[in-house]
Amino acid sequence: MRSFAEELDELRAEGLYRTLRTVGGGQRSWVEVEGKRALLLCSNNYLGLADHPALKEAASEAAALGTGSGASRLVSGTMELHEKLEARLAAFKGTERALLFNSGYAANTGIISAVVGRGDVILSDRLNHASIVDGALLSRANFFRYPHRDMEALGRLLREKRGNGRCLIVTDGVFSMDGDIAPLKEIVNLAEEHGALVMVDDAHGCGVIGESGRGSAEICGVLERVHLQMGTLGKGFGSYGAYVAASAEMCEYLVNRARSFIFSTSLPPAVLAASLAAVELVDSPEGARLRERLAANVSLFKARLAEAGLDTMGSETQIVPVFVGGAEETMQISRELLEEGLFVQGIRPPTVPAGSCRLRCTVMATHAEAELIDAAEKIARVCGRRMERRKSGEMG
Ligand SMILES: *Cc1c(COP(=O)(O)O)cnc(C)c1O
Repeated sequence: MRSFAEELDELRAEGLYRTLRTVGGGQRSWVEVEGKRALLLCSNNYLGLADHPALKEAASEAAALGTGSGASRLVSGTMELHEKLEARLAAFKGTERALLFNSGYAANTGIISAVVGRGDVILSDRLNHASIVDGALLSRANFFRYPHRDMEALGRLLREKRGNGRCLIVTDGVFSMDGDIAPLKEIVNLAEEHGALVMVDDAHGCGVIGESGRGSAEICGVLERVHLQMGTLGKGFGSYGAYVAASAEMCEYLVNRARSFIFSTSLPPAVLAASLAAVELVDSPEGARLRERLAANVSLFKARLAEAGLDTMGSETQIVPVFVGGAEETMQISRELLEEGLFVQGIRPPTVPAGSCRLRCTVMATHAEAELIDAAEKIARVCGRRMERRKSGEMG
């Protein structure tokens, strides 16, 4: 039997060992990491709302109601704030109802394992988030993965594997490590043709992309045709938790069947109030201005990286990967960038396929233009230096 220490040694040898880095100074665009001041370029707090006065005030005020909810939703843990936030989210998304979950991870595992079961079918993009994969495994349904955004492959799976039970097509709206957007129109067309349900995980899209911030389904023009629109409140919304926007019937079903909803203490008042303030903000002219700022920052940053000859892997959003390749090399570049005052995480397997390790840069609305220009220049310089070293290594 292999010991835990041996397993950890193996991870070290493969360059896959993970450690925690503590961030000091609050969630702002400049943070302190390992005693160094650094520009934060790896947070999902895309609009800067985690540090917004309106959210912090709302959270402080609601803390007067108690720090914990004390129970799960079906016992005594449903407070007025849960109902208010659910109603606000449903109004924002234009669905009959919305249901809160304690996190995106809990939402995906709970929803998927409730909606399909043994004998049913799940069709999932190969690059979907780990929590979708875990939900699929938990459900015991037949689980098929199609190559990333490959609609021909999805069509083939529907024709060959659809069966007579329920069939769920599930996809990230914005892919978390690539920053591209799922072809939702084609997915919805195929689903309607084959009588399948569609679930979109818009953890990185909701609040952030689309004219009114309603995410990838808005961009693709299919808001009314996605059965389960899941989104998270801890990223663009700057708070914590998750929701699904769906029909009243579907939400009622999930209240009765989703185990992560039923068997877990509900979100506490301060978090709910912050989320409510965040939805208000996202759905206001200030939200639109923040999205515009973010989009302008993204264009600038990408243009500078492209000019330097770096590969941003087809990103269409504020998630901007920079391709590196090997795990060791990626982590070394990340360390060198921190030395230069830039906090960017390297991403390795199992989060991404082997050989496609990358720096995952995320742009925020609160970054200044000059900061992004400087960041792109540093990334180009450090990546260029590694490339030079690799070339001379190969020749020597
Ligand atoms: C972050 C993320 C989740 C998990 O959401 P949490 O609220 O952080 O648990 C789920 N899906 C995707 C695509 C994500 O990026």
